[in-house]
Amino acid sequence: MQIFTMDIEQDMAAALAFAGLLSRYSLTGEFYITGDMLRKYPAAVRALAKRHIICGHGYHHERFAELSLSQQQAVVEKTVALFKLHRIPIKGWRFPYLSFTAESLVIIAGQGLFDSSLHRHRILGPFYYKKGIHLLPKHLREMPWSATDLQDTLFYQKEGRLLTHCYQFSHFRAALESYLAMRTSESSSAAIPSVSRSSARSP
Ligand SMILES: [Zn+2]
Repeated sequence: MQIFTMDIEQDMAAALAFAGLLSRYSLTGEFYITGDMLRKYPAAVRALAKRHIICGHGYHHERFAELSLSQQQAVVEKTVALFKLHRIPIKGWRFPYLSFTAESLVIIAGQGLFDSSLHRHRILGPFYYKKGIHLLPKHLREMPWSATDLQDTLFYQKEGRLLTHCYQFSHFRAALESYLAMRTSESSSAAIPSVSRSSARSP
């Protein structure tokens, strides 16, 4: 399973274009959106929420590891409250800059949100899962990806939640489009090799 996700902190037009592309291929994406962007573009976020999963991404895109515990708590509560005010349900959270502490994860869990803040350098480290509060299914890896990855013909064998940003969209739009077209034609000819569970697991 591949889940395409995007962080939205500055370019709502890119987010809508990305969502449209996913929808065209019947894919449900995940969008990690700051409170600031929701405040500026509530109608656009509501449109995204009709088809895709909406998650929080800080209020002003804060660097959580540099905040006190009570500041962290306040930012999360303020962001969650704003989504509630707009009646847009959020399911998860990604910390801006993937910056967080062990306590940050407890705050997110307390709000009933899953966290999706794994970092490329943390994927190989066992510490994250050991805390027992990462609410992501354990077999699902999280990977930053780029236009270069999409040009790798083996990309479709990779399972997991794929992380990218709104401001990168113009760089990978064409590659994503041809990747999705290729993936669709591969799956209609049933040629996608299965990926073993063990290789998809974090060590
Ligand atoms: Zn961000």
